[in-house]
Amino acid sequence: MTDLATARQWIGAAERIVALTGAGISTESGIPDFRGPQGLWTRNPEAEKMATLQHYVADPEVRKRAWKNRVQMLGRDPKPNAGHRALVALERRGALHTLITQNVDGLHQLAGSSPGIVVEIHGTMREVVCLDCGERAPTERVLARLTAGEEDPPCQSCGGILKSATISFGQGLVAEDLRRAERAARQCDLMLAVGTKLSVWPIAGVVPLAKEAGARVVIVNAEPTEMDELADAVLRGPIGELLPRLAG
Ligand code: NAD
Ligand code: ZN
Repeated sequence: MTDLATARQWIGAAERIVALTGAGISTESGIPDFRGPQGLWTRNPEAEKMATLQHYVADPEVRKRAWKNRVQMLGRDPKPNAGHRALVALERRGALHTLITQNVDGLHQLAGSSPGIVVEIHGTMREVVCLDCGERAPTERVLARLTAGEEDPPCQSCGGILKSATISFGQGLVAEDLRRAERAARQCDLMLAVGTKLSVWPIAGVVPLAKEAGARVVIVNAEPTEMDELADAVLRGPIGELLPRLAG
């Protein structure tokens, strides 16, 4: 294992970094991950249904639970943490070219990352989309309806089913977003993977893509990931402590 000082040096010398973040960077903001030891799915495998399109469409109870969760999570008004801010610092230094995130919480942008460098590969919970007519709207509008008592609010234009504008299982990624992420990975000199087990495909594939193209790979995560073996450095520990020391 490479030590923190060496990895910090690599990051300091890199000119074109691509970061790939996962749920682990937001747990310190109070948003649980899915597959970590305290993850939502680890504790309650039923919860996976809410993220599966087929169940969401077929079962109003699944939708009601999903909206309840949204109200709860957004009601806590999660704030960015030191990990998100370290990536803002890296961008200000001119070193962070693209920030690919699997997260849907919008915390990178709230921390100050430029929307132009962020690729939200799994969508965003800050917007909702109608599964029938495709109309998008800010999530706040639906939250207002939910707090007023609706449990499964339909689209106001066509009566169709509304869903968070996140990519559920059973839905394809936005092709242009994936292309952009892969292009950035092929052209970077350092790939920084943070808070992800690297088990969700196809986006995990940007890590081997960067490696094959000659980039260094640095992984920061509390537990082992699927790609520790191809990494040049693996740093295990709390992201909120490690990332500012690596990249702040
Ligand atoms: P994951 O749940 O598979 O893995 C998260 C990893 O982060 C785990 O290995 C865990 O040990 C590690 N981790 C958690 N907190 C940490 C901390 N403070 N310091 C260091 N490591 C920590 O996450 P994933 O690979 O990103 O995949 C889950 C999918 O679910 C993603 O595709 C994403 O779309 C979605 N998701 C998003 C959010 C969010 O937006 N915040 C939250 C949960 C899930
Ligand atoms: Zn509609």
